[in-house]
Amino acid sequence: MTSDTWKHIELTDILALRFECKECGSVLSVPLEKYSEWALRYNAHRDRVKPPLSECPVCGDPWAFVDGSDHCTPVTLFVERLNELVGVLQKKERAPGFSMTLEIKGQKQSEGKVESENEHAV
Ligand SMILES: [Zn+2]
Repeated sequence: MTSDTWKHIELTDILALRFECKECGSVLSVPLEKYSEWALRYNAHRDRVKPPLSECPVCGDPWAFVDGSDHCTPVTLFVERLNELVGVLQKKERAPGFSMTLEIKGQKQSEGKVESENEHAV
């Protein structure tokens, strides 16, 4: 029997964004608050500051702006909305009537018998 373990993470448990270069494999981990500062600094000084994620900090391969596409703005919007949502969920007054977590798939666990992709234990 195979069972899937589903995990839940609190939005406040999201500490950083992890970017891995498809060219060289380098990993850049940016704490959420640092990404926000990076985006604000770019917006305030567009003439002097490169946009976040414009290139790999190790090999220089283009990251966010490829073939005319802007992949920086969606990441920045994601971080802004995540911060906004965390603020809403942490409200003490006029708080929402729900809590919210992200459900992510965990590891499959085999217990010896026939494994099936269709068997799930939640
Ligand atoms: Zn790279």
